Amino acid sequence: MKCIKLFLVCMLAITVMHNAHAQKKDKIKVLIIDGQNNHDNWPETTPMMKGYLEETGLFSVDIATTPAADASMESFKPDFSKYKVVLLNYNGKAWPKETNDAFEKFVSNGGGVVSVHAADNAFPEWPAYNKMIGIGGWGNRSEKDGPYVYYDSTGKLVKDNTAGVGGSHGKFHPFKIVTRDKKHPITKGMPEVWMHNADELYDRLRGPAENMTILATAYSAKDQRGTGRDEPMMMTINYAKGRIFHTTLGHANESQECVGFITYLQRGTEWVATGKVTQKVPKEFPGADAVLLRKK
Ligand code: ZN
Repeated sequence: MKCIKLFLVCMLAITVMHNAHAQKKDKIKVLIIDGQNNHDNWPETTPMMKGYLEETGLFSVDIATTPAADASMESFKPDFSKYKVVLLNYNGKAWPKETNDAFEKFVSNGGGVVSVHAADNAFPEWPAYNKMIGIGGWGNRSEKDGPYVYYDSTGKLVKDNTAGVGGSHGKFHPFKIVTRDKKHPITKGMPEVWMHNADELYDRLRGPAENMTILATAYSAKDQRGTGRDEPMMMTINYAKGRIFHTTLGHANESQECVGFITYLQRGTEWVATGKVTQKVPKEFPGADAVLLRKK
């Protein structure tokens, strides 16, 4: 009898170990790149985003931190091929050409990319990167880089080739997010309108804007020193076989504590990895006039 019990306990232990191993093996591998940013809170937002992704049980997240801005970038050569998704929390010096080439190959072959907030300020001189993010700002971006993209007051999507700077923002403030594509796997089940916590509302972004789907916009109000346009906030881009999720949100830690920001990050990361979203939109979600922050 003792022998049978021992045998059963052993079998159970083996099964549990096997399941744990299988679960770990099946997780989507994500690499967050950080290390330089005009946003000094990057050492805080990287672990926040890593935590948001890992709490879903879907992802296993590594971090690659570049050398500092005053150091040579030559040593920065992460092995993208080990990952399904690269999440960019980076706005700094150009990477070595070999790394750029490897990144382009990674995305062309079906790798996923998530671009968060100031990552769309990065690499103004890198054409393939600008195609991946669709639209970007600052870094001397102008009409040479592509049109402005926004919705006009009649709800029509406009690509505007008017000359002018790419990228600006008004005051740091809470603002409403309007879902534009309700059928996309990332937005399916999200409310049409919800209130985002205080953030920078990026406007006047411009770029190639090819193969780009705008998921959600926000009205950049003139009384907040904005453009008076409905500006793209979240979008997806297809680049060869690769999928990209681009969120302009996430300036401050409190911006990233918004349940809406977190939900987009989790769902967008799954979509770029697999083309599907299996996660449910949380029941507790920001209302049209009420922000909802993740409890600490
Ligand atoms: Zn910012």
